[in-house]
Amino acid sequence: MDSFNPDEVTVRSGHFIGGEYVEGGEHGARRMEVARPSDGVVYASVPVADANMVDRAVENAWQAFRTSGWARMAPRERAKILRRFADLVEADALALGRLEALGSTRPVAQAVSWDVPFTAEGIRFYAEFADKLGGDVAATDHDHLGMTIAEPYGVIGAIAPWNFPLVMASWKIAPALAAGNAVVLKPSEMTPFSVLRLAELAVQAGVPAGIFNVIQGDGRTTGDELVRHPKISKVTFTGSTRTGAAIMAACANSGTKPVTLELGGKSPQIVFADAPRLDDVARRIAGAITGNAGQVCVAGSRLLVERSLAEPLAERIGRIFAELKPGATWAAGTTLSPIISEPQAARIESIVGRTLGSGATLRYGGVRADAGGSSSGAASGALAGAFYTPTLLTDVTADSEAVREEVFGPVLTLQTFDTEEEALALAQHPEYGLAAGVHTADLGRALRFVRGLEAGTVWVNRYGRTSDFMIPTGGYKRSGIGKDLGRQAYEANLRFKSVLIDLRQ
Ligand code: NAD
Repeated sequence: MDSFNPDEVTVRSGHFIGGEYVEGGEHGARRMEVARPSDGVVYASVPVADANMVDRAVENAWQAFRTSGWARMAPRERAKILRRFADLVEADALALGRLEALGSTRPVAQAVSWDVPFTAEGIRFYAEFADKLGGDVAATDHDHLGMTIAEPYGVIGAIAPWNFPLVMASWKIAPALAAGNAVVLKPSEMTPFSVLRLAELAVQAGVPAGIFNVIQGDGRTTGDELVRHPKISKVTFTGSTRTGAAIMAACANSGTKPVTLELGGKSPQIVFADAPRLDDVARRIAGAITGNAGQVCVAGSRLLVERSLAEPLAERIGRIFAELKPGATWAAGTTLSPIISEPQAARIESIVGRTLGSGATLRYGGVRADAGGSSSGAASGALAGAFYTPTLLTDVTADSEAVREEVFGPVLTLQTFDTEEEALALAQHPEYGLAAGVHTADLGRALRFVRGLEAGTVWVNRYGRTSDFMIPTGGYKRSGIGKDLGRQAYEANLRFKSVLIDLRQ
């Protein structure tokens, strides 16, 4: 994958409503500047949808839901259109990948080879569900016929984060569309553009205009208006636990709407001395905290290691950290992503600083990374973006800030244990329960951890998902409610009507 010049990529601003771009700048509507994480350059702005604009988008979606035939067409027809949509996304990988890389933390090589194809495959996965679940016939006495009929909700309000703009949005829209709903999606105000292209491609594939809409804006104005709109029947959200709680309250106060919430995490990686192939384990552990510079909900941010292995594992992790090359997301060789924004980098710095102040030891990293110049021909020399070196902190306790708080950066803490019981106790976080990794050769022990861990996902001798979309993702405790992916996410976009017919009349 070649580098590209970010100044040569143009973006379409505005909202995407009813199958077309709506500039939305009328009547002095507020706008927000959008900066490139890699160099801090403001490259565009987006309008902030106010109550009127949100209403326009939702009304459009509602009319399309009722009149376009999307919900009523033969489900195999819907599947065919969605498969075509997936094909168009895949064919657009280079343009879409560049658009994703331009304004997010996703390096172009990864965006083109993983984010875009993974998005396309997720759409295909849900297309295949469209005609697989229509409801059930119940066992009743002979004089009655009892059924449950699966029906779409209507208009789904979807709100997405910035860390994987296309993939996170596709996990919301694909099951919603396959189930026959219309969607109004609000991307993060920091990464607003790639999903506009996604919505355009949906229309090109034959998804009726108005079934997939995108509105731009911040959370406090646009997100809140969307969630509260009376014609939004269900809300699906991915983002921080704090925002998720605010959205849940807004849903409760605006019509007791159902919610799916995919929230924050502080996931442990537990390594026993018998774990096979220590070099591979070290690579897995390092990869799980440096991928996307740790800006991953399931980042494996707490390393718990059996005491005898702590030193050799830490050394290997340090060597892998040193291999990573920070750089612009548009440079072909970048292997360490920028931090999304300067305030977020400052937050990482201050959490590390306070943790060191409370007695932790800095084993590796702990400083801003020098990303050097850009190889793209972009205007700047040294990059002014925010980069942070992969960091390992030791001598921490369960109370250390970097162990307790979701840092959302490449910061790994290391704690040691002597017994299985101690490892399990350390692994349980008081609030979060998103994911966990267990690395051991002992099957019985692995399964005891699978049973014992309070986490929505447990990986054994690996860390991170595959493209087995049937395996859902979602959190226990304050890491979320409901699931993305899997059959569960499809069912969560349907409501079930019970019918009982008396056959004696
Ligand atoms: P965030 O909560 O700040 O914002 C997420 C989205 O919510 C944005 O689009 C934002 O504009 C919107 N928003 C903010 N306030 C709102 C409000 N009051 N009403 C409606 N919408 C509002 O999160 P972020 O910083 O974009 O993303 C990082 C967080 O997302 C991390 O905590 C991470 O763990 C989490 N995340 C979770 C998963 C998962 O699957 N569990 C996946 C990715 C990210």
